[in-house]
Amino acid sequence: MRCRHCSNSTVLINDFGSMPVANSFRNQLDEDLFRFDLKTSFCEFCNLFQIIDNPKVEQMFHDSYPFFTSTSKSMVNHFSKFFEEFKPPSKEDSFVVEIGSNDGSLLVQAKNQGFHHLGVDPSGNVVERAKSCGINSICEFFSEKLAKEIKSKHGEANRIFAANVICHIPDLHDLARGIKDLLAQDGLFVFEEPYLGSMLEKISYDQIYDEHIYIFSGLSVQTVFAEYGLQLVDLQEQTTHGGSMRYVMAHQGTTTPSKEMLRILDREKNQGLNSVETYLRFARECEKRRSQLRELLFGLAAEGKRIAGYGATSKSTTILNYCNIGNEIIEYFCDTTPEKQGKFTPGSHIPVISREEAQERLPDYFILFAWNHAEEIMRYESNKMPSSVAWINIIPKLEILSSS
Ligand SMILES: [Zn+2]
Repeated sequence: MRCRHCSNSTVLINDFGSMPVANSFRNQLDEDLFRFDLKTSFCEFCNLFQIIDNPKVEQMFHDSYPFFTSTSKSMVNHFSKFFEEFKPPSKEDSFVVEIGSNDGSLLVQAKNQGFHHLGVDPSGNVVERAKSCGINSICEFFSEKLAKEIKSKHGEANRIFAANVICHIPDLHDLARGIKDLLAQDGLFVFEEPYLGSMLEKISYDQIYDEHIYIFSGLSVQTVFAEYGLQLVDLQEQTTHGGSMRYVMAHQGTTTPSKEMLRILDREKNQGLNSVETYLRFARECEKRRSQLRELLFGLAAEGKRIAGYGATSKSTTILNYCNIGNEIIEYFCDTTPEKQGKFTPGSHIPVISREEAQERLPDYFILFAWNHAEEIMRYESNKMPSSVAWINIIPKLEILSSS
């Protein structure tokens, strides 16, 4: 396999088998389900960890894309702080762009504070939601071509933001050229993504699914953008999505790199993020996690225990299909997203119901598939859920959190 970015040959890391699109929740069980082979590889030349094949983008981001950022209170709060930290120093003559702006959870701050702004997102339903809240948005994929159009209409951008979206873009050359062109000379490009260092540490292989074409590290981001005169100047670790990294980029030579960035890059080298051995070890650990989860769940089911899923996340699709766990083990999923309720999980055929419906048929065990929101969920559930219901946490380690 060739590296998607630098075309050098890569090393096969994971083979998760045949996989549906993570967000392809279905109305009917007999609907045709698109599948692809989910495999990963690592490039020793540019340090990019990547999936080998991916479905066409149109199969992933569409008008019924079921994820609205604003449904998570902790994310809304997170984006508000993000904007405060990185907003341009003055409102005059400044222009803020967000790639993958979803329903406007970050740009709402720009709007409220009177900054000229524009959101770009390919999913029609979320763009409509943003527009209805007065946030300037267009329904497009970001590209070099679009960057030129935006620049000719609105001028250069002082800030370009992105959250959990750069890893969705297959052609990083096109992206980097677009950023280089659109970003003002003293501007900053700030983006955050699930972090490779955290994934390897927690064995959170559920970060790997169709939308995440790359899982980035400081080392890979530095290499990819340097080619286009964009310099990594800061790294900031985030707790969101089970461990994310914020990357701050500027035009080459305009900003002094932070000490923290140098410290994290050193740590990445010590952690072996530039070594293929580290990834092969990760793959072996994924296999081990698969056996452990199957053993626990099949054991509980054999004892007649009722098991349900909490949070029908995109990430759960990888776990369920890779571990071959379906509706014979998991009775239902409860999820607060109305767009997912009444549907079935992709490939594992588990019905998704609301939290209210789940209250009427509580299981013996809830598996925390939204493990990255564990604290928020446990706090919310602490006085609603009877103590007879136990929690199974799967990442960073398989454990039963409470039991009757
Ligand atoms: Zn490469």
